[in-house]
Amino acid sequence: MSSVQCACVLHGPQDLRYEDRPTAPPKSGQAQVQVVSTGICGSDLHYYIHGRNGDFVLRSPLVLGHEASGIVTALGPETENSGLRVGQRVALEVGIPCRECRFCVERDANGAASTKGPRYNLCENMRFCSSAKTFPHLDGTLQGRMNHPVELLHPIPDSCSYEAAALAEPLAVVLHACRRANFTSTPPNPRVCVIGSGAVGLLACSLSIALGASSVTAIDIDSTKLDFAKNAVGVNNTWQVPIPPKGTPPPKDKEEATQRSRDLANAAMADLGIASNDGFDIVFECTGVESCIQMAIFLARPGSRVVLVGMGTPIGTLPISSFALREVDIIGVFRYANCYPEALRLLGSGKLRGVEKMVTHRFPLEETERAFETLRRGRGENGELVVKVMVNVTSPESAPRVGTMAPPELA
Ligand SMILES: [Zn+2]
Ligand SMILES: [Zn+2]
Repeated sequence: MSSVQCACVLHGPQDLRYEDRPTAPPKSGQAQVQVVSTGICGSDLHYYIHGRNGDFVLRSPLVLGHEASGIVTALGPETENSGLRVGQRVALEVGIPCRECRFCVERDANGAASTKGPRYNLCENMRFCSSAKTFPHLDGTLQGRMNHPVELLHPIPDSCSYEAAALAEPLAVVLHACRRANFTSTPPNPRVCVIGSGAVGLLACSLSIALGASSVTAIDIDSTKLDFAKNAVGVNNTWQVPIPPKGTPPPKDKEEATQRSRDLANAAMADLGIASNDGFDIVFECTGVESCIQMAIFLARPGSRVVLVGMGTPIGTLPISSFALREVDIIGVFRYANCYPEALRLLGSGKLRGVEKMVTHRFPLEETERAFETLRRGRGENGELVVKVMVNVTSPESAPRVGTMAPPELA
């Protein structure tokens, strides 16, 4: 085993450096993982461009990347019961909960405690690899080898590639969103709308189809993304938000801005043949843009739900009467809890249409800068659509293709 590994380290805005770092042996309860694929996400891009992501500012050099898969290369002490073995293909769940707070510890009727509470994503002391929220920061997955708690390493089904397994992270986000929205029970085959056709929105479309939505409509401003949603993912309908004609004055106040969102929602419903007093059973809002959140509320039928998957504007104006008086529930989601095994099972099942095609661009670790610039432009060098940019830290061709252990089947 090599004792030095290469890491791609962010030192400040657009200052990425490749550094050789010593590999430490895994500690108790940890395995060492050779990272194979890491997907680049919007939050990584924020850190890369600005050296910060919202309120979280880089205070010391940080390795980015949190959508990752790899191979177990060593097991530390006290990992005998993990079910993992050296050579195993795994996806890394990089949010490390404290296992002590009220969200981490769950007690059953007999008072027995388990440390994987159903909402450990809300852990008050969560440390997330590649985030500058906590200090000292915890490094992410744009590095050759890292040690990680065994209970957060999830076996990859043989039928799932390393790149697809790296998508388990954003898929876990939308799976958690579906669970929060009681997707399969209210009503059993909901009519779904997804606003925003980036990687997360497209995964929400694909998952909604796999979970039995009666129809899925994708809404975006970019027709190329909608073409992808239609052709690769197979959504039933798409609707393109019209760009206002040049010279349209900005709304003069928040009432007018909200009215414009209502008009857009009405236009979409008319084009889609939905009656104005009806709407969608579930709307996944994946942009975080204020006008889109407003539109999501107007698109929701009475008694339905709007799930806020995208996070953008921290403070905004919402048409309260339009959701309160029609009992439209607005549901917040933050990352995921207990979603990885099911996400990986779905990725291996072949039921998620279009996922393999979502990886539109791939780069080796030493070209991570190009990976970030590609995501930043949103278009490839030939003007083609960028959905998910993957950095292959290790060449997937040189890594073992299958593991011998099947993942647990979890509902
Ligand atoms: Zn992310
Ligand atoms: Zn906790």
